[in-house]
Amino acid sequence: MSRLRVAIQKSGRLSERSLDLLKNCGLQFARSKDKLFWYGKDFPVDLLLVRDDDIPRLLLDGVCDLGIVGENIASEVMLERNVGDGLRCLRKLGFGHCHLSIAVPEDKDIIDSSQLEGKRIATSYPELTRYLLEEKGVKTEIFELSGSVEIAPSLGTADAISDLVSTGTTLRANHLRELEVIFESQAALYSRKGEIPGDKQQLMERLLARLEGVIQASKSKYVMLHAPREALEKVTELLPGVEHPSIMPLEGSDRIAIHAVCGEAVFWEHLEALKAVGASAILVLPVEKMLS
Ligand code: ATP
Ligand code: ZN
Repeated sequence: MSRLRVAIQKSGRLSERSLDLLKNCGLQFARSKDKLFWYGKDFPVDLLLVRDDDIPRLLLDGVCDLGIVGENIASEVMLERNVGDGLRCLRKLGFGHCHLSIAVPEDKDIIDSSQLEGKRIATSYPELTRYLLEEKGVKTEIFELSGSVEIAPSLGTADAISDLVSTGTTLRANHLRELEVIFESQAALYSRKGEIPGDKQQLMERLLARLEGVIQASKSKYVMLHAPREALEKVTELLPGVEHPSIMPLEGSDRIAIHAVCGEAVFWEHLEALKAVGASAILVLPVEKMLS
């Protein structure tokens, strides 16, 4: 019986969410002593806990079947290995959002990236930065640094930087100004491109269906309410992301009960609008699991 091996980040920004996601898919693990390999107890899926930078390489080399990693890292490694589309993105996971941006010293008179022609750019993403700037027709000299990229301009070793940004606080603290976003990223589930043996393929599909269910469930709410029969159409329109609600008659009343799974966030404004068209006894419940 074959097993799937999934690589996730050992410790860092993506670790907790990656592990939670897999646990919510019903996976349980026996941790090994060295904590790098976790054996899947009831479902044949094992985990390998590694540095995020190693995940795309482990997939390309066939050591792992699936990996959760930022799109930034996956793209950088594919360019570095010159494998173009060697990895397949199976599902963007909705966490680990950040973007790769070009930033310049606050006091420099630069308004767009075309003015960086021939300039020196410090970055931890040399391949991605070079590729994206060349796509814009800008040739630069790339200066690779593995960390503390943001101090390079003040040290006089670079004219600009290309770095990951989520809030911009680090940039401001280093007197840098965000010039242009060149790449948007979030965590995603990847596999290797190419033929996958039938039994592994089936396992992957089962895991993916569960994953889809977990992601959908976390976004969904179950809404129950009572409303006048003639308000059904208006109520359905007001329920976010609902097409076919379940409708039940209420004994001895001309009102009906409406139950629906809302695929989008439900805010107080939605409830107030429902009340305004005659709805009452409105309940909003979380959805724990979902399989369609
Ligand atoms: P490792 O030890 O695994 O190599 P790391 O220090 O390279 O860890 P983290 O800082 O944990 O990596 O970031 C992991 C990923 O989180 C990034 O590659 C990126 O996809 C995402 N991320 C989200 N927000 C940010 C941010 N503000 N800065 C950097 N990365 C971010
Ligand atoms: Zn890393």
